[in-house]
Formats: sequence, structure tokens, C-alpha cells
Amino acid sequence: MRKKIIVGNWKMNKSVEESAKLATELVAACKGQAFSDKVDIGIAPTYLALDRVAGIVKGSPVKLAAQDAHWENQGAFTSKISVDMLKALGVTYVILGHSEPRTLFGETDANVNKKTVKVLAEGLIPIVCVGETLAEREGNITEKVVGTQVRAAYQGVSALDAAKTVIAYEPVWAIGTGRTASDDQAQAVHKYIRGLLKEMYGSEVAEVVRIQYGGSMKAENAAGLLTQPDVDGGLIGGASLKVDSFLGIIKAA
Ligand code: PEP
Repeated sequence: MRKKIIVGNWKMNKSVEESAKLATELVAACKGQAFSDKVDIGIAPTYLALDRVAGIVKGSPVKLAAQDAHWENQGAFTSKISVDMLKALGVTYVILGHSEPRTLFGETDANVNKKTVKVLAEGLIPIVCVGETLAEREGNITEKVVGTQVRAAYQGVSALDAAKTVIAYEPVWAIGTGRTASDDQAQAVHKYIRGLLKEMYGSEVAEVVRIQYGGSMKAENAAGLLTQPDVDGGLIGGASLKVDSFLGIIKAA
């Protein structure tokens, strides 16, 4: 059975001090809890807070995630952070291809692919985000859009490496909008993605890759989504910014 994975994406929220406070509260809330062994937990603070938060989560069930990474180790790439740098801080997961960089900052499938390959090469775990806009859903091309994104991200990725990855299905219309995909809508796309992975890599790989749902998941709707057969966790934005709401989702998982 696939272990559930819940990751909080803090986006451009919280100062270093506030991040440290939230991470401290979360670590304390997870201490000695039975769920800590049953669910993989991650948090992705801003880059600025990674170092500080790394010290706080060390030795706890809470793992560190980054919100993006560049595919080169160093060089003239103003504003970018390398996987090497993240690795040195003890980062475990790297979120790639989130819809905000895709829609606001020109992130491309080709770049997501280069990043995925690099993150895997450095032994970290990519969380590859895919998802359709409202217009695409209404145009009945959700599978085409999501399929294209998945195929592109995994170009040149071996079956062995693909098995280590996490995919986050995040319908763009559900991110930060309070509008969640229904349990059935989420399951249908997750099942499609798993079928695609089977086509690409065979059933052994398809069965181990964890597919998170993301898009206005909160404690109140988490149980319904997380009990769908192909929903293996959540990538959480807004609801990860408070310990109680994030913990509610972790407990549901
Ligand atoms: C996200 O940005 O990955 C996300 C799922 O955000 P929210 O939970 O706020 O919709």
C-alpha cells in the first residue's frame, strides 16, 4: 500500500521568524503521535526560511521541501537556487511545475523536465505538479493537458527514478479559490495519471508513484479526497499556514 504524503506549500508567506514559529508548533504537535509513522509530512517554507526551519525539523517526522529549484549547480542564473544548495540544507522534496510559476512566471514543460531530471540525479524527490485550467476542464481536455504535462516532465527519466517521484494533481481552478474538485473528479484524474504511468513505465512503477491532490484541500474535505483509491496525499497551500488546519489534514490521511 502506498504511504500517504501531505506537504504544505507555504508559498510567499511568513517571515523567517513566523516560519520558525509555525515549524516549531508543527514539530511539537507531531511528536509521539501514531500518525507520524503512517504519513509522510513535508513543509515548503520560503527559501529564506529553509536554513532556520531545517534546524527545527531535524530528527522529527516533518521533512523539508523547497518550492522550486534550478537545474544547474551554479552560475549566472540570477534569482535561482540550485538543487545542490537545497541538498546541503537537508531538503527532501522539491515542488516543480506548480501552476503559479507556470501561469505567472512562464514556467515551461521543458524546464520542469530539466528540473525533474536534476532533482532525481541529486537524490531528492521531485513533486511534479500538473493540472488543467477551468477553460481546459470545460473544454473537456483535462486528460490531454495533464497527460502532456506528465509525459513532458518524465522525458528521459528511467523507470527506477520515476518510481521515486511524487505527482501532485492540482486543478488550477481549485488552487487558492476555495473551490475543491469533488472526490470523483479528483479520483478520475488520478486514475488517468496512474494509467498513463502504467503505459510509460509498467504497472510496478505506476503502483508505487504517489499522486497527491492539491487545490483548496482542508481538514473538512480531506477525508473524502484521501479515501479515493488513487489519491495518495495532498499538496496544501492555504490550510498549511496554520498548525490546526494542517494537522487536521495529516490526521485525515
Ligand atoms: C497549492 O498552491 O499547491 C495549493 C494547493 O493551494 P491551496 O491549498 O491554497 O488551494
